[in-house]
Parts: sequence; structure tokens; C-alpha cells
Amino acid sequence: MPAYKYTCKHCGSDETRIAGIDDHTVTCDRCGKPMSRHMDLKSLLDSYKRPQTDN
Ligand SMILES: [Zn+2]
Repeated sequence: MPAYKYTCKHCGSDETRIAGIDDHTVTCDRCGKPMSRHMDLKSLLDSYKRPQTDN
């Protein structure tokens, strides 16, 4: 299962959670606001290295 990092834009809290298929509704433990998901660092670096070769 992929782990995604979530950041709360409201209080700056970071959390890493194991994401389900449609897990877009993680809420912040501190303030209860929805957190935004971003790719983990490894995937991010990987996408930088790789030229865009879709198709
Ligand atoms: Zn928060």
C-alpha cells in the first residue's frame, strides 16, 4: 500500500498515512480541516529525473 504525506495548510501539521484507493478526505488531527496530499519525496525526485515520456 502506498504511503502518502499529507500537509495541513491551516496549521502546518504533517502526517504520513497509508492511502486507500479513494482517500481524499484526510482531516487534520489538530484542527480538523481537510489536509492536502502530496507525493512522497522519492516519487517526486523520480519524476524530476525522468523526462516526460507519456505514451
Ligand atoms: Zn491542521
